[in-house]
Formats: sequence, C-alpha cells, structure tokens
Amino acid sequence: TRTYIVTGSASGIGAATAAILKERGNTVIGVDLRNADVEADLSTPEGRSAAVAKAVELAGGNVDAVIACAGISAPAPITVAVNFFGVTDFLTALVPVLAKSSAPRAAVVSSMASLQPNSPELVDAMLAGNEEEALRIGQTLADSGPQTGYLNYPSSKRALSRWVRRESISPAFAGNGIPLNAVAPGTVVSAMTRDLLSTPEGRAMVDANVPMPLNGHSDPEVIARLLIWLTSEENSHTTGQTIYTDGGADATLRGDDI
Ligand code: NAD
Repeated sequence: TRTYIVTGSASGIGAATAAILKERGNTVIGVDLRNADVEADLSTPEGRSAAVAKAVELAGGNVDAVIACAGISAPAPITVAVNFFGVTDFLTALVPVLAKSSAPRAAVVSSMASLQPNSPELVDAMLAGNEEEALRIGQTLADSGPQTGYLNYPSSKRALSRWVRRESISPAFAGNGIPLNAVAPGTVVSAMTRDLLSTPEGRAMVDANVPMPLNGHSDPEVIARLLIWLTSEENSHTTGQTIYTDGGADATLRGDDI
C-alpha cells in the first residue's frame, strides 16, 4: 500500500479522497486548518513549511503521493495565498521526499473557473512566484468591489493549471519521475457551494456557464476517484494536464479552442 498526503482533508473533495484511499488500504496523512492529522494554515509561508515538516514526520519520511485539495473562493487575496501558493509551495517542498518513492505522483484541484475571465496581471505575479506582489494586486481587486474581488478565484485557478503545465516537464517533476496533473471540477456539492446552491438565484448563477449539464452537480467522490487514479501507480505517462470533470463546462466555455 501507499502513503498519501492529502490537503483539505477535513471537508468536501479532500475528505472524500482521504476516505476512499483509506478504504483501499492506503495510509493517509490529512492536512487542514482543523480536524486533521496535521493542523496548519496553508495561507502563510510559515504554515506551509510547518505542514510539510509535520506531514513528513508522520509519514516516517516515506511519501508516495500528494493530493492538494485545500482551497477557498473568497473574493479576497487570501484565495490566492491558499489556492496557488498553498499548493505550489507545499508541493515543491515535498519533491525531494517524493523523489525517494518508487512511484511518486502529485495532483491538485483546479476548477472550471480557470476558464473564466481573470486578471492576467495577477496570474503573471503568481507564476513569477512573487507572493507579495500577487497579494497586493489581489487586495486592489478586492477593494474595487465583490465582482472584481471574485477575480482572485479564477486567477488563482488559471495560474495553478498553468503552473502544473510548466512544472510537469521540469527537472523537479519529470526529472524525478513524478506525474503532475490537475482535476478541474464543475459544480461540486460541498461546504464551498452549500450556500450558493441553497437558493434558486444562486443555482442559476452557478449553472449559467453550462446550458446542458451532464448528470447535474457532482458529489466530491466523483473528483476524488480521478485524483486517486492520477496519483496511482497505473498512471505513468499522463502529466501536465488539467482534466475537466465538469459535466461539459469546458466544452461549452472553450468550444473548439483546443
Ligand atoms: P470545502 O470547503 O468542502 O473543502 C476545502 C477544505 O480546504 C476545507 O476543509 C478547508 O478547511 C480547507 N482549507 C481552506 N483554507 C485552508 C488553509 N488556509 N489551510 C489549510 N486548509 C485550508 O470545498 P471543496 O469543494 O471540497 O473544495 C476543494 C477544492 O476544490 C478547492 O480547491 C476548490 O477551489 C475546488 N473546487 C471546488 C468546486 C466546488 O464546486 N465545490 C468547484 C471547482 C473547484
């Protein structure tokens, strides 16, 4: 059996991923703000390094895969700190440990929102690894109102999918034999969407992008099962991909642009 580190393990997609992995006999070290093996705040550099150190210690130094699910959708720069730097810094710090596994794998959670309008300036600051500048731009967007503040979310996911594409072919990941991919969900029924889905107006807003949704909103397990395949030994050659598991949102929004 394999040892997995799963972030966001206390709720939604992360919780479903941890549960299925355990059912299948794997060892899971969960990371979250609360109710986890490792309780840490991935929005800060200190929280990330503390989380890495504790998780590796609990794993006895042997980690086969990392699945990063922790994320938020607040119309504020903390969304950039958690969804981008809380994933990329965390994964990068774990590469030397993963590299010791005979079948190391990594996967992250992007979103169909990666295809929505975003702030290119903010995306570039994230990809440049400049957290201070990214948070400054994110705060400026938030200060202009909730609609521009929301751009923090699609920007964080666009940058994350692009980071996956770039890093997948790097010495760190490809060089160490580590497939690196993202799963991009459509609308998943979880704590993140509970309020939005509880009103007809909220549901209409969420569904606006997908006129012909395949099989409706998904349960977290749907996303979990693909994350688990991508980080299994079976996946040897799929890398750098963002796989849209979104009931048709990507096919609708991006159309022929492929
Ligand atoms: P969720 O709210 O149920 O779970 C997210 C988890 O991340 C929570 O347990 C939360 O405590 C944790 N988290 C948040 N901030 C953290 C921090 N600073 N440090 C450590 N942990 C932190 O939501 P979910 O739907 O399971 O979301 C999981 C991922 O899926 C997120 O990256 C989200 O952006 C993405 N996603 C969700 C949807 C959806 O419709 N729910 C759609 C597309 C993408």
